[in-house]
Amino acid sequence: MPSDHINDRRTFAIISHPDAGKTTLTEKLLLFGGAIHLAGEVKARGQARRARSDWMKIEQQRGISVTSSVMTFERNGITFNLLDTPGHEDFSEDTYRTLTAVDSAVMVIDVAKGIESQTRKLFEVCRLRNVPIITFVNKVDREGREVFDILDEVANLLALDVTPMTWPVGMGGNFEGIYDLATDRLLLPEGNSREFHGKVIQTSGLDDPQLDEMVSAENLAKLRDDVELAQAGYPEFDPVAYRHGDLTPVYFGSALKEFGVDSLIEALATFAPPPRAQPAEPAPVEPDRDEVTGFIFKVQANMDPNHRDRIAFMRLCSGTFKRGMKLTPTGHGKPIAIHSPILFFARERELADEAYPGDIIGIPNHGTLRVGDTLSERADVRFTGLPNFAPEILRRVQLKDPTKTKQLRKALDDMAEEGVTQVFYPEIGSNWIIGVVGQLQLDVLLSRLDAEYKVAAGLEMAPFETARWISAEDPKDLQEFIGLNRGAMAKDRDGNPVFMAKSAWEVGYIVDRYSKVKFAATRER
Ligand code: GDP
Repeated sequence: MPSDHINDRRTFAIISHPDAGKTTLTEKLLLFGGAIHLAGEVKARGQARRARSDWMKIEQQRGISVTSSVMTFERNGITFNLLDTPGHEDFSEDTYRTLTAVDSAVMVIDVAKGIESQTRKLFEVCRLRNVPIITFVNKVDREGREVFDILDEVANLLALDVTPMTWPVGMGGNFEGIYDLATDRLLLPEGNSREFHGKVIQTSGLDDPQLDEMVSAENLAKLRDDVELAQAGYPEFDPVAYRHGDLTPVYFGSALKEFGVDSLIEALATFAPPPRAQPAEPAPVEPDRDEVTGFIFKVQANMDPNHRDRIAFMRLCSGTFKRGMKLTPTGHGKPIAIHSPILFFARERELADEAYPGDIIGIPNHGTLRVGDTLSERADVRFTGLPNFAPEILRRVQLKDPTKTKQLRKALDDMAEEGVTQVFYPEIGSNWIIGVVGQLQLDVLLSRLDAEYKVAAGLEMAPFETARWISAEDPKDLQEFIGLNRGAMAKDRDGNPVFMAKSAWEVGYIVDRYSKVKFAATRER
C-alpha cells in the first residue's frame, strides 16, 4: 500500500553551525540505523575535512560523493532519508534549497556555545517553510552552559516554544547520564571511556530511591530541583505546535559518546512528520496523489569525468516511482525515460526499482534537468518555492585569455544552473558579473573554472553590492524603469531583468521612488 510507504518515511536534514557535531551525529545515526559501512565513511570524511587544505573544503562543499549528499537508513520499519546540508562558515544557496526538500530538521547546538550564526540563518530558512525542528543539544559530556540558559536562548533568539524532553545529569567532568522526562528512564554511561552502551534504568520518577544509588547526591538534588522548575516553566510537549514549527522539543546528549542518539531517532520516528503536501501550482500536491511528481533541488555536474556528467537530485512528492518510468519536466522538454535512477541507500549507490514520496532519486542526465524543475507524469503541476536569493557579494569576472569567452559563458551558465553562483549579464558593457551569498562560493567558482573548464579567470570588485529582480503589473512601468536605469540593469541566466544596486541604501531609495515596480530579493525558479 503506497500510503504505508508514505507514513514510514522521514526525510530530514541536520542544521548546525560548523563544529557543533553534525558529522559525528550523522555517523552515530547511521550506526544506530544499521548502516555501519557508511558510518566509517562519514567519519573519514570529517577527519579529512579537518586535516586537509582549503581545496578539500571546497570539494566538501560540492559534496565529494553522491552517497554523502543523501543517506538512507532504516530502523524499526521506518525509512529515514537524511539530506546533507553542506555546513561551512559560509552558506550557499545549495544549502537553502536542500531544506526545501525535507519535511523536518534536527538542529544541533553545542552546549557550550548555544545558538551560533549559521544555525540561526538555517533556522530562518526552516521557519519560512514551517519546517518542524527537533533540537539536539550536543557535547554534554563537556563543560557547558546551564541547561536553563540554553533552553531560554533557543526560546528567545528563535522565538520558539521549547519543551525539554530529556535532562542531563551533571555535565562535563560531573556528567553522569541523561534522564528522560517522558519515560522516567535514566541512561547511564559504562566503561572507562564512559560511553553509553545501553544501560537504561527504568525509574518510577524522580523520587525513586534507586536514583540515590545511581547518581551522586549533588547531581541528584540539582536534577530534582531543575526538573521541577522546568516542568513549571516550559510548556508541555504539543505535537501539533511542533509540526507547525512553533515549538521545538529539546534533547540533550553527546554524539561522541553516543548519549541521547537513540532518543533522537525515536523522536524522529514518533513525532517528525512523514512527507507533507508540497506547495505547487495550480494546487499543493498531496503525497497520496497517484501521479508521480517531484522536483529537482540540487544538481551536481562533473561528478565523474568518465561517466555521465550530471546528477539531478529529485525529491519525490507523490506516487510510486518505478524504474524506466517516463517523466516530463514541466515547462520545457520532452518526457525523459528514467532508466538508471540512483537511490541512496546507506551502503552504496543502488539502482532504484521503486521509490516513494519523501525519497530522493538521483537522475543522471546531460544538463537537461535544472534546479527548480518539476518532473511529473502528466506535466500538469509545477512546484513552487525554490528560491534564488539576492546575492550579497557581487564580483566582475575578468578573463585572462580573451579567446575563452565561450568556455567562460558555458561555465558560468552551468554553475548558475547548479546554484553554485548566480550570473548577471549587464545591459551595458561586456563584463559579466557573478553573485554569491557567501565568500566561499567565490573560491569554489575560481577553482572549478580552472579545474573543470580550463578557464583562467580573476575576480574584481564590481560597482554593485546587491541585486533585485524587478517586475511590474504594467509592462510599461517596467520598461520605463529599465530605460531610466539602464546602467544598472542586467539579465540573469534566464533572461529576467535585474536591478543592480550600489548599496542597500540605494535599494531603499529606489524602492521608495518607483512604487509601481516590484523589487524582489528572491526569485522562484
Ligand atoms: P561538524 O563540523 O558539525 O560536522 O562537527 P564534527 O562532528 O566534525 O565535530 C566537531 C568536533 O567536536 C570534533 O572534534 C568532534 O569529535 C567533537 N564532538 C562532536 N560531538 C561531540 C560530543 O558529543 N562531545 C564531545 N566532547 N566532542 C564532540
